[in-house]
Amino acid sequence: MNEIPLTYLPKIWLPYTQMKTAPVPLHAVRTEGSRITLQDGRELVDGIASWWTACHGYNHPHIHARVSEQLGRMPHVMLGGLVHEPVRELSERLSILLPGDLDHSFFTDSGSVAVEVAMKMAIQYWINRGVQGRKKLLSFRNGYHGDTLATMSICDPEEGMHSLFAGAFPEQVLADLPRDETSSAALDALLAERRHEISAIILEPLVQGAGGMIFHPPEVLVRLRALADKHDVLLILDEIFTGFGRTGTMFACEQAGIIPDIITLSKALTGGTVPLAATVARRHVFEAFLSDSPSAALMHGPTFMANPLACMAACASLDLFEREPRLEQVAAISRQLRAELEPCRVLSGVRDVRVLGAIGVVELDSVDDMNRLKNALVACNVWVRPFRRIVYLTPAFTITSDELTRLTQAIYHVIREGAFRKPA
Ligand code: PMP
Repeated sequence: MNEIPLTYLPKIWLPYTQMKTAPVPLHAVRTEGSRITLQDGRELVDGIASWWTACHGYNHPHIHARVSEQLGRMPHVMLGGLVHEPVRELSERLSILLPGDLDHSFFTDSGSVAVEVAMKMAIQYWINRGVQGRKKLLSFRNGYHGDTLATMSICDPEEGMHSLFAGAFPEQVLADLPRDETSSAALDALLAERRHEISAIILEPLVQGAGGMIFHPPEVLVRLRALADKHDVLLILDEIFTGFGRTGTMFACEQAGIIPDIITLSKALTGGTVPLAATVARRHVFEAFLSDSPSAALMHGPTFMANPLACMAACASLDLFEREPRLEQVAAISRQLRAELEPCRVLSGVRDVRVLGAIGVVELDSVDDMNRLKNALVACNVWVRPFRRIVYLTPAFTITSDELTRLTQAIYHVIREGAFRKPA
């Protein structure tokens, strides 16, 4: 195997990385199932499925086959004025799979852009209905919805990654989640006062992911749906992380029995193979854009919108959800995570252990030396990427029980050894 010289590295600008001090990243050459093979021959058990995307494991032969066939026929064609079979099939299947009348899919190529489209849809929904002034979004503390400028404005302003940019984007309306009577009353009062400025409420249902893997019960969603209806604002659920089985049901909103006005999807949409995102609107939202006036149309259209390879990968991923027992696998992973992460609770430096669906979290009091912690995990031959004080697992649903045990044991071991502390 040819070694690639490390001098190539400064040409690549890595995400969320101080390029001056960052350690040289590992070099992946192959992925299969829940394994990542490195250039030096090491094989890591993957605990996070490439930022929660590869829900069927890597290189699933069925996705491979459908995408390869599409590659031979038509890798891409613009969606402007043309449609194609993969986008027709995917929109049809999403409208059947999603609850209620979430029937109209607008495709983009990343989660952040899908959220931006949802924001534009919500703002223009009111404009098209002749209501002025509803240009703001209401979002929640610890929320995360993307890294582009508009989505940064609805992320948590302090805890999020974007505090440096305060003032560079429009100020939105920030609230606490309605977890109890007091916070629900506060949100009710806030909406009563500011509803004339607000187009939509936006939330990651059940799990605020990048904000710290913070869970909330389905009742929070029930309250939000009721408050959105009471104050006549739209409700957007960002299911980019939670969608496609991660929390135990196909979509997190099903656990609350509510239907958002707009839902955003990405990550596991293509089984983690090709970038694709969707912003799906209910009928009343879609119908607000139907008019004899061209200016009422949704003015958005990414060049690679609904790329046929990506839509085909998504259709193949949906085939797998239909044919294979994914939700049962999520339930089994959940049970195993609960049993095997629980012993971490009594370790020194551990603040909390929590599990929801195929998400397992060990929250530490603090992490003093993140690089040491990451290196210690790799030394156990596992791929786990802690952030801030969160060590978490979001494995592929096809992971074997032995592989999962290797992950949970590695986490227990590195925490017990204090690998998150600076060496004495
Ligand atoms: N919303 C949520 C809930 C996310 O978890 C993410 C990505 N972590 C995004 C939006 C942004 O998606 P992308 O990184 O594809 O732009």
